[in-house]
Amino acid sequence: MCGIIGYAGKNNAADVVYKGLKRLEYRGYDSAGAAFMLGGKITVIKKEGKVETLAQYLNNVSADIGIGHTRWATHGKPSDINAHPHSAGAITVVHNGIIENYSELKERLISDGADFLSDTDSEVAAHLINEFYKGDLTAAVAQAVKMLKGSYALMAIRAGESKIVAARYKSPLIVGYGNGENFCASDEPALAGICEKVCVLEDGDIAEITADGVNIYNGNLQLVIRSVLPNLAVSESLGLGDCPHYMLKELREVPQSVQFTHKAFYGVEEKLKSALSGVNRVIFTGCGTAYHAALIGKRYVESFARIPAEAETAGEFRYKNPVFGAGAAVFAISQSGETADTVEAARLAKAGGAKVVAVTNCLRSELTRIADVVVPVAAGVEICVAATKSYTGQVAALYLCALTLAGEDIGGWRGKLLLKMPELCKKAVESIDAGALAQLCASARGVYFLGRDIDYAVAVEGSLKLKEVSYIAGEGYPAGELKHGTLALIDGKTVSIFIITDGGLAGKTENAVEQVVSRGGKAAVITNVDGVEERLKDKADYFIKLPECDKYLSPLVSAVAVQLIAYRTAVMLGRDPDKPRNLAKSVTVE
Ligand code: GLU
Repeated sequence: MCGIIGYAGKNNAADVVYKGLKRLEYRGYDSAGAAFMLGGKITVIKKEGKVETLAQYLNNVSADIGIGHTRWATHGKPSDINAHPHSAGAITVVHNGIIENYSELKERLISDGADFLSDTDSEVAAHLINEFYKGDLTAAVAQAVKMLKGSYALMAIRAGESKIVAARYKSPLIVGYGNGENFCASDEPALAGICEKVCVLEDGDIAEITADGVNIYNGNLQLVIRSVLPNLAVSESLGLGDCPHYMLKELREVPQSVQFTHKAFYGVEEKLKSALSGVNRVIFTGCGTAYHAALIGKRYVESFARIPAEAETAGEFRYKNPVFGAGAAVFAISQSGETADTVEAARLAKAGGAKVVAVTNCLRSELTRIADVVVPVAAGVEICVAATKSYTGQVAALYLCALTLAGEDIGGWRGKLLLKMPELCKKAVESIDAGALAQLCASARGVYFLGRDIDYAVAVEGSLKLKEVSYIAGEGYPAGELKHGTLALIDGKTVSIFIITDGGLAGKTENAVEQVVSRGGKAAVITNVDGVEERLKDKADYFIKLPECDKYLSPLVSAVAVQLIAYRTAVMLGRDPDKPRNLAKSVTVE
């Protein structure tokens, strides 16, 4: 979380840093700030609130070096003082990550006379660099970061020195190369359209960035060579087009996400096949929406390959001392490929001898460096904090992985069914009118999403999406479990949304609809199963009709429905669905 950007070059650093921060804002948006250097003098501007709050202070700023930060607070509430950059002496720093030993460092620095202004963990980095500074900023950063425990991507500048020194450990950081200008940023999209060549820094790297060049060192300050690659985000369209929000734009891009992910899979099919030969147990892991994709992956593997499979949130998995055993494969799923818990779960699996498969939308992320095989999710850049198209891309990728594990030809009948899905997803996005149901949800005290088996996996995703963007409490629950507890919550102020896409289980879930309606609860049904609407027409208040498709592929259309309900509800309540309160995309901290 947090986005950081640095610039050294011929253009006005204030413009470049501001533009970069706007692009990075999805990583955090409770406060923002920047430091600019002109003629050896540093000016710091930082404010609570979104990046645009800075705009009015930047009108007259011109600079040839700048570093900026958009924050998602971990230590210290969002405020002007806690916003980055933080300074100590002539040193100014922006930081992404968590410095876990900050209290002891702070105590020691204070006893040595340092004066702290903020409640952040990050400020210790500025003081340490200041303490170690003996005429060379790069050497001071190298010494200071050795003292830090936790994670960091940081950039430091010093009044009078025309360079930025950047360092990373377990938080992402890239360097961008221009002509007479160079950059440093948390991710490639931040530099889309302004920088065509990038290099991904590795853990322990320290980079010196000036207008004329970039030097990259290891922790002992020996020069290292890192590959310079084309910026993958360079040709992406990152604008809103005619959409009012990224969430809607990205929902409309679900068909391409499924189609391109399918296409990209052909490039890894053989490698995956050989990596998975002999696998007898599969563990899917991820966080948030990616975990919900994991729940579907488990069902695919068990149904198609008849291999035992589990799904577990990465934050739990990594701390439960898991047993892998011979023949285990771990599928680590993360949109950004930088999700701290998922990355660590993958590392743990690798160390435990399991095969690691990364399923990710970001092909240069940390997760891809750990994995034995990378299965691309080709959703394109996702800006809205709440995941939509990356989830459907993950589901499509996991479907193909499960077919591969089952020894099925992905060009076979099941693969052909997937080929039809982009068109059906398009139909779903265009035809589902979630407005009336959203109105009901907007005034509800609680909204419950219910389903069985694969529909349950989508129900939990629906509930999470609604919570994320509309702040309405609720739960995603197995329809069969309703009567074992959750039914106590049902009354006229609650809405229960049932997902029914499996004809074989429809009757069972219909019973649950009856149980809710009998207790005065409002009910809505999302279905593509014949006869359900007819049977429930006097019971449920709303129906959403999904395009007909194979039951295993139904999450690709039912997810569109639940995500649209969440979107419409958020907009109806006047929330910003792209930047929900307290959240940020790409959770790079624990
Ligand atoms: N820990 C720092 C802060 O709270 C940075 C937060 C982050 O990178 O998410 O300011």
